[in-house]
Amino acid sequence: MNKRILTGDRPTGPLHLGHYVGSLQNRVKLQHEYDTYVLIADVQALTDNFEHPEKLGDNIFQVALDYLAVGLDPEKVKFVVQSMVPELAELTIYFMNLVTVATLERNPTVKEEIKQRNFVKGVPVGFWSYPISQAADITIFKADLVPVGEDQLPMIEQAREIVRRFNRLYAKVLVEPRAMLGAVARLPGTDGGAKMSKSLGNCIYLGDSSEQVRKRVMSMFTDPTRIHPTDPGHVEGNPVFTYHDVFNPNKDEVEELKERYQKGTVGDVEVKARLFRAINEFLEPIRERRQEYALRPNLVREIILEGTASGRRVAKETIEQVRDSMSLNYAFNPVLSGIDPKSSNRLPHIWKRVHVRRIGNEVGNIKLCWFCGAFRSYWNERVREFVYRDEEISEMQTGRAYVSNELSADIIETPCSTPSKNIDISTIESKILADVNSFYPQY
Ligand code: ATP
Ligand code: MG
Repeated sequence: MNKRILTGDRPTGPLHLGHYVGSLQNRVKLQHEYDTYVLIADVQALTDNFEHPEKLGDNIFQVALDYLAVGLDPEKVKFVVQSMVPELAELTIYFMNLVTVATLERNPTVKEEIKQRNFVKGVPVGFWSYPISQAADITIFKADLVPVGEDQLPMIEQAREIVRRFNRLYAKVLVEPRAMLGAVARLPGTDGGAKMSKSLGNCIYLGDSSEQVRKRVMSMFTDPTRIHPTDPGHVEGNPVFTYHDVFNPNKDEVEELKERYQKGTVGDVEVKARLFRAINEFLEPIRERRQEYALRPNLVREIILEGTASGRRVAKETIEQVRDSMSLNYAFNPVLSGIDPKSSNRLPHIWKRVHVRRIGNEVGNIKLCWFCGAFRSYWNERVREFVYRDEEISEMQTGRAYVSNELSADIIETPCSTPSKNIDISTIESKILADVNSFYPQY
């Protein structure tokens, strides 16, 4: 299986230059190497926008346009809408037991964001605890790598702690993710604030028109100690020069401007005009692709729906394993399933999935009957092998191999036999897992 990436953005507005250098650039670069899922985190966006949920729909569309515009290939990368994957909410609830209030209170990013947001009626529990739901987002996809900006490092650390705790307590089901910082870990805002951020209105958006970019650049914050163009100015900590370093490919020009700025031989207007030109050239192809996709809303919607459907398939697989490992799969529990195993010898098998294998688009799995210990394997929804469990586990016998789809196999196969006394499902399961390769085609 390819390694996976999970990352995402809150649909609180279109994406900006900070997103590009902090995360999008890495996603574009790695999309051919990793199975990439990008979450449009509308549920997380609600945590500080719950009074205006109507904004989210359009913003989901805008964020998807930005993804396509920067070059994420929808054939490779799945765009997943968070609220359409309810398994995420379920996993979040389980994770809540694994995190203490004190740990949440120490999260430096959340602390900072609470200050910025100035919640009038107090901090909503949803906002305060969003690192937990973000851990669910990352881990349900079993992501190995999470390309993010620096503000997200405490979230990844939180997710790693939860994974370690979960795997130790229940079973080794989840994958510990790693953060990957972008070329610029934290791009400052046009107002000189520490971070360009949708909620702070200090952004240059990827879809901004050339005129909008000009306005935003020309009104940028520079060196507050410099009053006249002839005053020697500061380059460090000056966002105009930070942007030049990042977006102006002409390094000689940048060096020359820095020198002249420090000597007081160039005015802010010229430095900004050159910055405008560089940023505008950088944005030109992105803007064009964005406009092309904006004219094809049905295609964009289809991409989002398909991506979400693939994401949900992965989420369902993981949540099943999570429930199993926490012994929450009551349907497989003979007492709680409501089926009296002794009442009939024509009971259906109750299948428990014990293994899944994916190779590209092909999927196989192995299921084990909770009651009688029969098991079977599928490859691409076709039954490959059907195995009865004999009285002795050592005498597992291969029965008939059906060529049928998964549904008709349920109808034509023999019903579950009366369960043996003291049947030990977990022993059979470990035996299957020890020999798992023999149930899948060998390439
Ligand atoms: P909001 O203000 O609504 O929180 P945001 O601008 O912070 O919006 P998010 O959707 O929260 O954007 O962040 C998405 C991803 O982009 C995260 O990985 C985050 O670290 C990264 N990112 C956002 N802003 C910047 C920035 N200024 N510099 C580097 N990375 C950034
Ligand atoms: Mg943010």
